[in-house]
Amino acid sequence: MTLAQAIRCVRCKKTFSPQSIIFECDACKGPLDVVYDYAKIRRNIITDDFKRAYVSHWKYWPFYPVADLQSIVTLHEGGTPLIPSNSVRGYLFKNEGVNPTGSFKDRGTTVEVTKAKELGVTQVACASTGNMGASVAAYCARARIKSTIFLPTFASKIKRQQISAFDSQIVPVRGTYEDAVAKTKKLREQKHVYLMGDYAYRGEGEKSVGFEIIDQLNWNIPDYVVMPVGNATLFSAVYKALYELHEVSLIKRIPRLVGVEAKGCNPLVVAYHEGATDIEPVKHPRTIASAINCGNPVDAVKALYALRHSHGIMCDVTDKEMLAAKKELTKEGLWVEPSAAASYAGAKKLGLSGDVVCVLTGHGLKDPTM
Ligand SMILES: [Zn+2]
Repeated sequence: MTLAQAIRCVRCKKTFSPQSIIFECDACKGPLDVVYDYAKIRRNIITDDFKRAYVSHWKYWPFYPVADLQSIVTLHEGGTPLIPSNSVRGYLFKNEGVNPTGSFKDRGTTVEVTKAKELGVTQVACASTGNMGASVAAYCARARIKSTIFLPTFASKIKRQQISAFDSQIVPVRGTYEDAVAKTKKLREQKHVYLMGDYAYRGEGEKSVGFEIIDQLNWNIPDYVVMPVGNATLFSAVYKALYELHEVSLIKRIPRLVGVEAKGCNPLVVAYHEGATDIEPVKHPRTIASAINCGNPVDAVKALYALRHSHGIMCDVTDKEMLAAKKELTKEGLWVEPSAAASYAGAKKLGLSGDVVCVLTGHGLKDPTM
């Protein structure tokens, strides 16, 4: 049973059946969103038992568009620790590096691959800067689905090796992440290949970062949730999670969301300062933080909406600031990849105080040379 009611275009509001295979709105090319029966969830699901249950990604199943819970494709992702900082009062680190393939991407992938299996898909393609590719490769291996990953040549060697380990086919792309995305879309036009990536189902899975943070704080909200921003899927997913917790009366208000981009790849920061509702893509993004090197964020429109509705803040940090934050995190016993340190770097740069959750998106082993 799924409590998903429809897939809806964020831009023009056109609705589609929750079972349709669709990646963008066929009317306006806008990004899509899944809508649920929140009244039913509030009435039937949200009990004290639900609230007390062990924290894990699939605990929040009513908020995922999955029909059959018996056939999910899982590696027991999520349930990652929320670790208080030793050095900055009030700061907490959500350590996503301990997920099965070393990044938060596994949360989106478990939902996306489960959905692909449900739809009878046998072959998928995915453009990735590395982490999503590694995650898709692992979960597809488990589901016995063939995967092809379009990987820009700037991706770290380790991520490439991680993808190969699962016998996924890698197509190297000389160019940007956007060039890789364009190649996957072409493949879809040529033959029946299911696209994985920062589309609606993935975002639905990545919501669990938001659910877990609030759950781990005993259903209290922090002052800020700070996240690195590349394609802005995680950022908009966490906003949606908080919105949904509010809809089902689990929280009374939505905390402020803070997005952090790399200085050399900051289209959302520019749009935020201009008060715009869409971005101007950065054509030649430059940053060492490969995981957030996305000049034309897929979920820009959703992220700007999330910023407006959470009194959010968008900021950018230099590569140097990211590396300094990464170094500081090692003093807390945490080793993350450069992009993952962007949240901490941004929080400190903005001088945030109070209860500040910094999401550390990927493990240091992902990019150990930096
Ligand atoms: Zn539309």
